[in-house]
Amino acid sequence: MTIAQNLNRIREQVEELAKGHPVLVLAVSKGQPPEKIREACQAGQKAFGESYVQEALQKQALLSDLALEWHFIGPLQSNKTTPVALHFDWVHGIDRIKIAERLSNARIQAGLPPLNACLQVNLSGESSKSGVTATEVTALAREVGKLVGIRLRGLMTLPEPTADAGLQRKRFAQLRMLKESLREQGIWLDTLSMGMSEDFASAVMEGSTIVRIGTALFGERQLKP
Ligand SMILES: *Cc1c(COP(=O)(O)O)cnc(C)c1O
Repeated sequence: MTIAQNLNRIREQVEELAKGHPVLVLAVSKGQPPEKIREACQAGQKAFGESYVQEALQKQALLSDLALEWHFIGPLQSNKTTPVALHFDWVHGIDRIKIAERLSNARIQAGLPPLNACLQVNLSGESSKSGVTATEVTALAREVGKLVGIRLRGLMTLPEPTADAGLQRKRFAQLRMLKESLREQGIWLDTLSMGMSEDFASAVMEGSTIVRIGTALFGERQLKP
């Protein structure tokens, strides 16, 4: 299967399950060479997700002739906030106010428009995973919402891997309800970043607006971080 064929198949599946609500298919290109990004772009894909700053910047430099939209989806350390703020349009994994403040300040200093951001929520309670708990998210959303250099868009989650479609849907439903509860508290959000290659169907059925798809689109990852 070519990248174009995979992309068409994924887009068709997403569209059928979304029943009219808009869903962005984010092509997760971490571990993939720049030629594959170019190939996906030729097939009409504009939004790409990367997890490692150095790898992303190298590829962005090689692809600067293309008008691509870049999403940072990896864990973010405070010493990497400036390159991320300057070279990405979205950040999906914010879970600390300090990181958000640094990103915001870097955007303002560079005279760039606010950075689109999602807060990462850890729903499974696995201590190894980043993300705030469901009870902590309201306070973080209020703080991040005050930052001039950030445009708070929504919530992101990375659930424990499972082939159990029932558990997948339960987690995604939890994130959807959390977003609804924040809206009832006056916090405006329009994005649910949830669903990857193995579980995007469940995520779209629960209202995902951004699915992050790597291997189902590009095949196995080649580069090691
Ligand atoms: C790598 C990654 C993905 C893509 O995973 P696939 O299983 O290859 O689709 C999605 N989201 C995040 C946060 C990732 O790190």
